[in-house]
Amino acid sequence: MYQASKQRYETMPYRHVGQSGLRLPAISLGLWHNFGDVDRLSNQKEILCGAFDRGVTHFDLANNYGPPAGSAERNFGRILREELGQYRDELVISSKAGYYMWPGPYGEWGSKKNIIASCDQSLQRMGLDYVDIFYHHRPDPDTPIEETAGALDLLVRQGKALYIGVSNYSAEQTVAIAKVFKKLGTPFIIHQPRYNMFDRWIEDGLTDVLTQENLGAITFSPLAQGLLTNRYLNGIPADSRAGRSSSPFLSPENVEATINKVQQLNQIAQNRGQSLAEMALAWNLRQPTVTSVLVGASRLSQLEDSLKALNHLDFAAEELAQIDAIVGK
Ligand code: NDP
Repeated sequence: MYQASKQRYETMPYRHVGQSGLRLPAISLGLWHNFGDVDRLSNQKEILCGAFDRGVTHFDLANNYGPPAGSAERNFGRILREELGQYRDELVISSKAGYYMWPGPYGEWGSKKNIIASCDQSLQRMGLDYVDIFYHHRPDPDTPIEETAGALDLLVRQGKALYIGVSNYSAEQTVAIAKVFKKLGTPFIIHQPRYNMFDRWIEDGLTDVLTQENLGAITFSPLAQGLLTNRYLNGIPADSRAGRSSSPFLSPENVEATINKVQQLNQIAQNRGQSLAEMALAWNLRQPTVTSVLVGASRLSQLEDSLKALNHLDFAAEELAQIDAIVGK
């Protein structure tokens, strides 16, 4: 039976999510890729237990993670049962509803009908009574936000979620749903947006909203799915996300289009004495509203490398200006 490292709380900083009492590790782990039925269970265990040994207390899931959809939650539930479950009260586990999960009009988006059923399914797959954070995964243009917010609020009242978050909501949509949550008294504390050097949309309004609303951000794909690492500096490895045909969101074309910039960014990282992944995460964490960066990893060694970002988080103004010039901001 797995026994967690006694040193697990010695190096990781834990930061408050907005003005809430909940603290998250500066680096959290997401299970979007690498935890499906197509992936080796022994590697999944090694990554999850290795993460916890290093102070990564937060694991992020969603109903549709796999492939196939649902399998990441099922595998995670199994690993909880066999290894990590003894530490449940030391873990922050999140899930989400909103993307396509089952056929018919109730299998996706933001109706009460979808959200309540989807959360129940997620809890069942993971073998949990509650999740720590439950997110609406994407805004639904065809459902009143009062209904979506009301469904999320109900999950808290039913004891199925402790805190609520939204993901992929624009600044305006965040303001609108925050207003409803305030009326309901919902513990809405967190936003999960994409943010990395190649995608800086949150700087155009969302970060201001998060500050005004006392919300924290946990940013996803901070490494641009691996582009902002040393993964593609010498071509496209067959076992990489861009090299695997099962990963439609990062293609060889994306790699070719960015590699020139990636090489220039890598030079700045080297001058700082960091790997590119470390610098990309430190750059993300420089934003005051970013509570945690949500990384993925296909092996434990990647996470170990990413965690080294915490050794050097500061940037000189000149370094930031160089990065802006390279990425065209
Ligand atoms: P990243 O940008 O961190 O990309 C992770 C990938 O980068 C890994 O799978 C690996 O690629 C590579 N990598 C990671 N660390 C290193 C390293 N140190 N050195 C070299 N390569 C490295 O994040 P993801 O895109 O995986 O997203 C992270 C999480 O965010 C997800 O698991 C999910 O929880 C969440 N998310 C949420 C979304 C939403 O809509 N709310 C959407 C997308 C993600 P390889 O596999 O090639 O080895």
